[in-house]
Order: sequence, then C-alpha cells, then structure tokens
Amino acid sequence: MSGKIFTNRAVFDETYIPSTLLVRDNEANVLISRYLSRLGEGLGSTDVSVVYGSIGKVGIGKTTLAKYVSRVLLRKAEDKGMNFKPVYINVYGAPSLHQILSRIVSELEMNIPVRGNATIEVLKAISDFLYIKDAYALIILDEFQSLLMSTKLSDDELYLLLRVYEEIPPKDNINRLNFLLVSQDFRVLTYMKERIPQVESQIGFRVYLRPYNSEELKTIIEQRAIEGLYENAYDQEILNMIADYYGYTDTKGGDGSARKAILTLRMAAEIADAENSSRIEEKHVRDALSADAVSNIPLDIIRSLSLHELLILQSISDLLITKGGWLTSGEVEEEYFHLSRNYGEEPRKHTQFYEYIKNLNNMGLVETRISGKGIRGKTTIMRLPLDIPAERLKEVIESILLDRVGSPKPN
Ligand code: ADP
Repeated sequence: MSGKIFTNRAVFDETYIPSTLLVRDNEANVLISRYLSRLGEGLGSTDVSVVYGSIGKVGIGKTTLAKYVSRVLLRKAEDKGMNFKPVYINVYGAPSLHQILSRIVSELEMNIPVRGNATIEVLKAISDFLYIKDAYALIILDEFQSLLMSTKLSDDELYLLLRVYEEIPPKDNINRLNFLLVSQDFRVLTYMKERIPQVESQIGFRVYLRPYNSEELKTIIEQRAIEGLYENAYDQEILNMIADYYGYTDTKGGDGSARKAILTLRMAAEIADAENSSRIEEKHVRDALSADAVSNIPLDIIRSLSLHELLILQSISDLLITKGGWLTSGEVEEEYFHLSRNYGEEPRKHTQFYEYIKNLNNMGLVETRISGKGIRGKTTIMRLPLDIPAERLKEVIESILLDRVGSPKPN
C-alpha cells in the first residue's frame, strides 16, 4: 500500500527537529557551552541569551535552534548526572506573569496549585522546588517580543521573571533558573533596553540569525531527504532547484526560509507519490513551487483533519473539478455518501455532516453561503476558497487517505 517515495513522512513535520543541526551548528555550540558552564557553576546570576532575526523573517531556525540547544543540554547534563529541566513556552499574545508561571510550574511537574497564590509565592515555590530537587531549568520564551510590546506585564514584573534569583535568593545561593529568549524582531534589544535595562546590559549572547542562503538550504533539505525519502526517489538537481528558489542573497533577497523549502520538498514528494511515480521529477517541484501549492494548501491543517472531514473536502474538490461553481449542500452530501462507501466507510448522518462543514468553514477550507435566487428554497451552498486549487487539494487528500485507509474501490 505504501508508495515509492516516502520512507518516513514524520521528518517533514513542522515540529520535527533533526538529531544534529548541520546548519546553525556554530550558534548552537556557542549557546550550549555558555549554559553548560553556567549550570552547576555555583554562585552566579541568571543567564539570559537572546536569539533573534529580522522583522517578518520566519522559518529561519530560531525556534529550532532554541529547542535543539535545550535538547543537547538535557543530554549533556544527564551525562554529568545533573538534573536539568528544559521548559518551552510560546508567549505570543502576551499571557500574564501568573499564566507564564503556571506554565512553568506545570512543565516542571511540580504538582502545586497556583490558583489564588500571589505571583511572588509561585516564584518562590519554583525556586524552592529547584533547590530541593537540585535541578536546573532553562526556560525558553519564544516570541518574547510579544511580552515587551504589550503592557500586560509591567517593567517590574518582567524584571522579576528574568531575575528571580536576585529577588528570591535560593537557600544555597545557587541560581538554577536560566533563560533563552527568542524573538522575531531585532527591536527586541531596544525594547529590553527601555523596559529592563538591568537585564539587557547583562545579556549573555545575542545571536542574530540571517535568512538561509541556498547552500544552507541545500544542506537542510538534503538531510530531510536522506531521513525521509527513498534514495532513488530524488536527485541533487531536485534539491538544488528548491534551495536556489528560496535561498537568500543580499542582492536578490529570497525568503531564506527553511520552512518553505522543506514544505516544498514534501509537497513535491506528495505530488509524485499521488501520481504513483517512483521519482520526484522537475515537474513535481514546479507544481509544488507554483505559489498556489505551497502558500495556499495548508498541509498541516489538512493532515490534522478527521477521516470524514477529508472525505467531505475530497467530495467538494471532485465536484469542483467536474462542474465548478457553487455547490449545493445536497449535492456535496450525495457525493460524500458515495465516496465514503467507496472507501468502505459508513457515511455520517446529516447533522454530523453539517458539523463537519461548519468546522471546515471555520478553518478557512470551505466557503459557505446561503443560496439566493435561482435555487428553490434557501440552502447552504459552498465551494473551496479561490486560492485553493481543487486539483492539487485532491492529490494531497488522496495521498493522505491512501495512508490512512488505502485506496477507494468504486462500485
Ligand atoms: P523560525 O522560528 O525562525 O520561524 P523554525 O525554527 O520554526 O523557524 O524553522 C522552520 C522549519 O525549518 C522547521 O521545520 C525546522 O525544523 C526547519 N529548520 C530551520 N532551521 C533548520 C536547521 N538549521 N536545520 C534543520 N532544519 C531546520
């Protein structure tokens, strides 16, 4: 049942982090040795380092670098017999200090109630917990600019969070809480200077990440190809095409995004797979690269859909390919009915079908409207958003369905 392209689809997931970083390894090593030398150093103040990029540059490895650093630190600390606890929190949207601390408490599996406790009490509990367990924590705060640009945390609270050690010295005076701040935006340093100058002036490392050039992207996607595709399913030319397309240079710009490069490789592989081809060919890459494919088919969302949502979306794509225009819910339901049967699945009842349509609509995968003139009575009509190409969506869904339930058996 499985195709000839993928050996391991999971390495193309957004959250997958390879076991070694072939690019950004220097940055990683600098941070790792910095924190490592701080851990267990004895008396010392909190270490805070900052990883940042330029405004609007995403997919350039900021989060990956931070998570990778904490993973390696965990391994190295374990080798030394140290109790090390990495904590990752995305603070986008600026949660309150109390919410952030609650997350830390739960990530550390401290098992204490934080509700109703004053912030300072929670901080003290964290500090005591680490002391009692003789543990060290590295707190990664991703999207840290969000906290700085919001007024939800006062300057004092920001200071308190990042300088717990000074406010609440642990019994043995050993600091066990360090921070790695990740920010999309280089203005993070200016903001820190304005709001928490005492912290800013003591930043350990400021690691600025440039968008990736094409050589770097080649290395990154080749690593994924080796881990996730059959050796005969691709060649270097395919990887070069993708890397050159997204690679950043000072003169031509370019996204420099590893996310897009990886997504394009995966998409090209999906298309080749759906065609039952044994190799990814140039035309598959072209299809994947056409802005439509990469930017408009939200692969991760689609992969997260339930089986019947996929079947419904597939029915809509099929109808759009054969007749186009707006589809009545009646005809979509009928198509879905047949398609489900073809896949050997019992179609869901009408009310459930409607729930699924509503979900798909909320996720931006289906547009719905109430019919106006021309159709008797009022009924819901629907279509795909105009920027989602039906043919390509069909290919993607077919390959996901193939994985989950096999191929359809038309009757
Ligand atoms: P950012 O945080 O800058 O938006 P991410 O760290 O989320 O970017 O990276 C986006 C995607 O690219 C992720 O899937 C990640 O695994 C991959 N990636 C980024 N940098 C590297 C790298 N140096 N090596 C391997 N994969 C990488």
